[in-house]
Amino acid sequence: MSDIDIRTTGQAGRITLTRSKALNAMTYQMCLAIEEALEEWRNNDDVSVIVIDAEGDRAFCSGGDIAELYATGTQGDFAYGQKFWADEYRLNHKIFSYPKPVISFLQGFTMGGGVGIGCHGSHRIVGESSQIAMPEVGIGLVPDVGGSLMLALAPGRVGEYLGTTAARMNASDAIYAGFADTYIPQSMWKNAISALETEGDPTCLEAFATEAPEGVLSRQIAQIDACFAGESLDDIRRTLAADDSPFAEQARKMMARNAPLSMACTVEMIHRLRGPSLSMEKALDLEYRFTSRAMEHGDFLEGIRAAIIDKDRQPKWQYAEGDVPAVAVAKMLAPLGKNPLSLTQETDMNTFNIGFIGLGNMGAPMASNLAAAGHRVTGFDTAGTTAKGVEISATVEAACAGADFVFTMLPNGAIMRAVSAQVLPAMKKGATLVDCSTVDVDSARDVGAQAASIGIGFVDAPVSGGVGGAAGGTLTFMAGGSDTAFAAASGLFDIMGQKAVHCGGAGAGQAAKICNNMILGATMIATCEAFALADKLGLDRQKMFDVASTSSGSSWSMNTYCPAPGVGPKTPADNGYAPGFAAELMLKDLGLSQQAAEAVDADTPMGALARTLYARFVEDEDGRGKDFSAMLPRFEKRGRDS
Ligand code: NAD
Repeated sequence: MSDIDIRTTGQAGRITLTRSKALNAMTYQMCLAIEEALEEWRNNDDVSVIVIDAEGDRAFCSGGDIAELYATGTQGDFAYGQKFWADEYRLNHKIFSYPKPVISFLQGFTMGGGVGIGCHGSHRIVGESSQIAMPEVGIGLVPDVGGSLMLALAPGRVGEYLGTTAARMNASDAIYAGFADTYIPQSMWKNAISALETEGDPTCLEAFATEAPEGVLSRQIAQIDACFAGESLDDIRRTLAADDSPFAEQARKMMARNAPLSMACTVEMIHRLRGPSLSMEKALDLEYRFTSRAMEHGDFLEGIRAAIIDKDRQPKWQYAEGDVPAVAVAKMLAPLGKNPLSLTQETDMNTFNIGFIGLGNMGAPMASNLAAAGHRVTGFDTAGTTAKGVEISATVEAACAGADFVFTMLPNGAIMRAVSAQVLPAMKKGATLVDCSTVDVDSARDVGAQAASIGIGFVDAPVSGGVGGAAGGTLTFMAGGSDTAFAAASGLFDIMGQKAVHCGGAGAGQAAKICNNMILGATMIATCEAFALADKLGLDRQKMFDVASTSSGSSWSMNTYCPAPGVGPKTPADNGYAPGFAAELMLKDLGLSQQAAEAVDADTPMGALARTLYARFVEDEDGRGKDFSAMLPRFEKRGRDS
């Protein structure tokens, strides 16, 4: 193929991009050719290293060739793009996990698709002309090709900064941000490649490496962290708007060009990925959720039209005015049901038989998401409730017979214990019981021990994220149980949620959940009483929010779930305090935290007071059935002695 030269030289498998007139932009055919070569060299003992470079001074690879995507997308053919991205991401993953050293030489522009080819190998070489960026938000996409993984791993808030501004990195910046490893002056690249071909060992690169000239990111890190720490794009934009430094002005200018929905999804993706369960597979899966919807529901076609087809540089973005609704972000990043990204050429997803007991507000959408992903789900609920895609059985036992996994999502520990006593004898040996209800630590430990005694795996996996998270597949699971049981269930957590943290043995998930919700109960009360005090001091609520949400008063309760109507993001406060997360559920969780604190003799005065206040609110003050943030109207009505 004339766009790429694939050969072996000495001990090296050599890939040279030769499409320099088009800045080596990757075509579909180039992608497939690289993948074929990597497969051929994987078990070829004559090939010890892979070296990827490119002809021309201006670019290693300026991105993906998007003209064909535009042509098919504007004709309503979205399948071509989906296949292109799926095949490209599979190649990115192959480079990332390749068993032999992959060394890339990144002169000039390395952007978007170029990062996917050049920045996932074991040794990424930069020189004086290197300019690396993830500029996808400028055409209505999100940082993809595995770029979201590197953004999530970058120091501080550098990932949010690079992903939303599309700022370019020089060699030193790229090393600082984790997109490159080694600086070698470009005049020495020819000799370095010859050494790799002859020796077949990347340690020969050490002789050529020198210190990179200074970059800017390490000097800007304090400002980046201060401005890009918000929970959402809108938080970040508010912080930047209140900052009159030249850095903030420049960032605002860069972001003004980019698609708001893409930037909001970029921030959300980085936040979801950052954390202990981060992996390349997760990053690519999340990216693919966005890109496979980008033509139909995102701004991708409009972005290409403005940048490349009409070249008017006047894209008409969605949500150009005002905030990007959280629901729009959730829709772009929701699980893809039966057509998720597959990183093997043939679909290799295991299809499980799953029993699901408790199809209430949370359980029904969770079970539906499992069914939509292709699993056979059989459900049971004493109230006779149903869930989309789920077959309903007449008894608990019938729902569990032959199941590989049984999930329970029930109101409390007593019911969970009673249901487990029915479930466990009906399950087959080697299967796994996953309880997602919020219950006391002892109930989780006891059921875990009973399961272990009859050869059944157990995970306690309570969730946070509420009914919206259950429907959107964005729950966080806090899991306790053995490594084996957690590993067995983790693919299913990925379908129903964005994150699963393995906290320890049986009961550790419940312990994490009640500690987390003890913080939440106390911070919500503190946030509500502060708003009520601010009212009495004559402070405007919006001003109060602008200050507290961007300073040391910030918290999830203030920034994401603001209890004041009309202020901050849309929350249950804007819907007459309809729950959301009901006050009585918060009372239940605070009760569990106090029960646990008593059992282990822990001093938790704030948690105890929060429990007392929520008990009064629910039992004596008309709080039952209201969202837990309805503490604000409660405080509004009261004086010091009431
Ligand atoms: P829910 O009351 O809507 O659902 C519970 C379901 O369990 C009901 O449909 C009920 O009929 C069913 N059930 C009760 N006993 C049963 C039995 N013996 N056999 C089969 N089914 C039975 O409650 P939910 O909001 O779905 O919450 C479920 C769990 O998730 C609770 O432990 C709650 O604390 C926790 N949780 C809820 C939220 C939320 O926002 N709703 C958030 C995080 C965690």
